[in-house]
Amino acid sequence: MTDTEQRLAAIRGDAPPKRHNARTIAALTGNPGCTRRAVLDGAGVDKPALAERVGFPARFGQSRFAITRGNVFEAQVKADGGAELLRLVAERLGVPVPAAASWTDLGDGDDPATRARRSATLLTEALSPTGSHPAESAALFDHPMLGLSVAGQRVHLEPDLVAARLGGRFHVVEIKSFPVIDGQADPAKLAAAAVQSAVYVLALRELLTARGHDPQLVSHEVLLVCPRDFSNEPVAHLLDVRRQLLVVRRQLDRMDRLDTLLADVPADFTADPAADPAALADSLARVPARYAPDCLASCELAYFCRHEARGQTGTLGRPVREALGGIADVGEVLALAGGEPATDPERAEAAALLRTAARLRADALATA
Ligand code: SF4
Repeated sequence: MTDTEQRLAAIRGDAPPKRHNARTIAALTGNPGCTRRAVLDGAGVDKPALAERVGFPARFGQSRFAITRGNVFEAQVKADGGAELLRLVAERLGVPVPAAASWTDLGDGDDPATRARRSATLLTEALSPTGSHPAESAALFDHPMLGLSVAGQRVHLEPDLVAARLGGRFHVVEIKSFPVIDGQADPAKLAAAAVQSAVYVLALRELLTARGHDPQLVSHEVLLVCPRDFSNEPVAHLLDVRRQLLVVRRQLDRMDRLDTLLADVPADFTADPAADPAALADSLARVPARYAPDCLASCELAYFCRHEARGQTGTLGRPVREALGGIADVGEVLALAGGEPATDPERAEAAALLRTAARLRADALATA
């Protein structure tokens, strides 16, 4: 074990590290500046257990109903060896619908490492036309097992589908059960799906690179298949995930440099969910966090961090904080708006703006 690995094991306690998945890797990009999160995720801490132990249990995750609905929709879309899916994907890519497509189910049996090896072999074989894969035919791979390194840990990832030989490239296909109504999907869900798909694209590109192929054979355009309007009729959309690829890559590189982050973390820092709750809360408070409202949808510690950050303008979101002159403390904002002189000359401009805003608000209320 390296020094860093020993340190991370001590932070997490006796439990084995929690493994990441595409959703948790995607969530890492939600608040990349947060040291607390990077250290906890790097150490593989059981964050739901930790949040519960300090008295602020996480309150997000898919309901059982949503999971069941998602599975039913996915099975419907993939029925008949993916015939309808193939048509949807080909049409959305603007290529002729192939007369033939092979369907390979990589989702069943075996342990993840064996599945990953089998997936790697079959996916790379799809690059070379053979008797069973003629150049003009498409190949659909159901639930291939891919891999990515996160903070030195090998993580297994399972996209819904990878389509090969359509438009000459691999395409990641994600099937989601949230609806697209009048051509519009929920922006937050769409953004999360784009980052998650970017994680799969990255993993597939790394596989091709490791096997000596051009990683650009994996398209940066992913296909998102959702129900149309209020029906179960599937509709496919193209998402360009180039920006998300950069963001995910940057955050994974940061996780690989955990020893740099750990240099600023107290030597006795613990996040072991079995430790005393008060000691845990004290310990967490000594590692800097950067709470923002987005944390509520992406990090299990959100309620703890929100409570800790009360009275800070950051809890209202970055745009509000910036609109308040970048001042961190709500009390100071109110004092300046009420006419207290700025003690720091750098705050003079913000103070003048806040006083003007307060006066305009008072005038508006008086007129009303
Ligand atoms: S909830 Fe807390 S630990 Fe998690 S990302 Fe936000 S500030 Fe960081």
